[in-house]
Amino acid sequence: MLNTQLANTELFQQAAFIDGAFVQAASCKNIEVRNPANDELIGFVPNCDAHETRQAIDSAQQAQKHWAKRAAIERANILLNWYDLIMSAQEDLACLLTAEQGKPLPEARGEIAYGASFIRWFAEECRRASGQIIPTFQNDKRLLVMRQPIGVVGAITPWNFPNAMITRKVAPALAAGCAVVLKPAAQTPYSALALAVLAQQAGLPAGLFSVVTGDAAPIGNELTSNPIVRKLTFTGSTAVGAKLYAACAPTIKKVSLELGGNAPFIVFDDADIDAAVEGGLIAKFRNNGQTCVCANRIYVQAGIYDAFLQKLTARLAKEKTGNGFEAGVAFGPLIDQAALEKVEEHIADAVAKGAKVELGGKRHQLGGTFFEPTVLSNSLDTMLIAREETFGPVAPIFRFESEEEVIKRANDSEYGLASYFYSKDLARCFRVSEALDYGMVGVNSGIISTEVAPFGGVKLSGIGREGASTGLEEFEELKYVCMGGI
Ligand code: ADP
Repeated sequence: MLNTQLANTELFQQAAFIDGAFVQAASCKNIEVRNPANDELIGFVPNCDAHETRQAIDSAQQAQKHWAKRAAIERANILLNWYDLIMSAQEDLACLLTAEQGKPLPEARGEIAYGASFIRWFAEECRRASGQIIPTFQNDKRLLVMRQPIGVVGAITPWNFPNAMITRKVAPALAAGCAVVLKPAAQTPYSALALAVLAQQAGLPAGLFSVVTGDAAPIGNELTSNPIVRKLTFTGSTAVGAKLYAACAPTIKKVSLELGGNAPFIVFDDADIDAAVEGGLIAKFRNNGQTCVCANRIYVQAGIYDAFLQKLTARLAKEKTGNGFEAGVAFGPLIDQAALEKVEEHIADAVAKGAKVELGGKRHQLGGTFFEPTVLSNSLDTMLIAREETFGPVAPIFRFESEEEVIKRANDSEYGLASYFYSKDLARCFRVSEALDYGMVGVNSGIISTEVAPFGGVKLSGIGREGASTGLEEFEELKYVCMGGI
């Protein structure tokens, strides 16, 4: 089916990519990849295990030694070629992405451009990765600090952004002079493999970027235990992130973990309500609520509570749910049955504790994993939906009275990734931005992600930052050189 939709069918690879070649698993086992919108079989990918992961790691080690010695501009030029090829193939890549992930095609196109932006950014950044000369402590000594690539990197990525979560890791790693062995999510391997096709065409030498498809545990175990891998970068759930963190401890790897969130979205009485409704829709419902920065708890101050609720519900009621390839669809399916059941569990718990369903609240008549966009009023902090990440199209609205109260409630979470608030009071904007215990704050904006700013969380939401100039440092070590006898 996909072959007929793609202008360049070479982008659809049903093979792992190891040491510059598309290969099958030695075990000859495959795993199925299905379209979450209709459960149709898209194709297969090899079920690789520790054997193929080791091959990828060994080839990465060889390739990285040469790559690290290339001038920064040579690495940058290859990355810029990759960027150009991705943008030229944007439509095909978006098509692959919608087929395996379900998000609407316009959103998929947006993700391809967003993902590619990290490649261009880090191609630019690596040319400015200057070291330091420190004022000496003795006259006959000179003190230098060099920034060097950390070496071989293991990367594990989720299904919700099958393209951008990869480029956000692989681009800075390659720019810094590292090599990467990637395990993409089992649900969405084709976006990763298409990126590998284009990286090869861009002139990236074999071994620098391998994509190992297959079951998580054997591949993950090898990536975390193999001493050649010096850094693990992961985006996914806190539960899995904590396991990987522990597994990296014996070999003392550097880690970056981008984990779950439970974002508060606060609307103060003095906010522009229409702007807050639009921002809330994006922050809550992008990717059908399946992003780690999705608003999970919408706190609205008492004076505008009813007006906000009414406007949000009316606005949301106009949006269409359906197959992401259909024109005009705003919300696709949920990724799988487990996701659907979690959404149902959160709604049932909220309703049992007194929440009112203002819109939606049940499975969509389309069947499968489609769910109606839902608004709940009278939400309380004791409900599951206030404590856990819902990862679905449910907007629970909480009422609050004062700034002090809402900051306390917003911070009462074990997570600390994104947070948002709407207010027109400048002093309040500073006060609240400083008081929120989150890695990121959107003020009068429901969209915060960009390659130029540091993305990441505190508390159980993770360690490290992606994007910005700091994103490059995550893949580097500092080497201090003390030169004596001067
Ligand atoms: P999500 O809820 O997004 O699926 P997960 O943390 O389960 O979150 O998955 C994120 C990524 O981590 C996926 O690529 C998945 O295959 C991988 N993963 C899950 N369990 C493990 C594990 N035990 N070891 C290594 N990777 C894992």
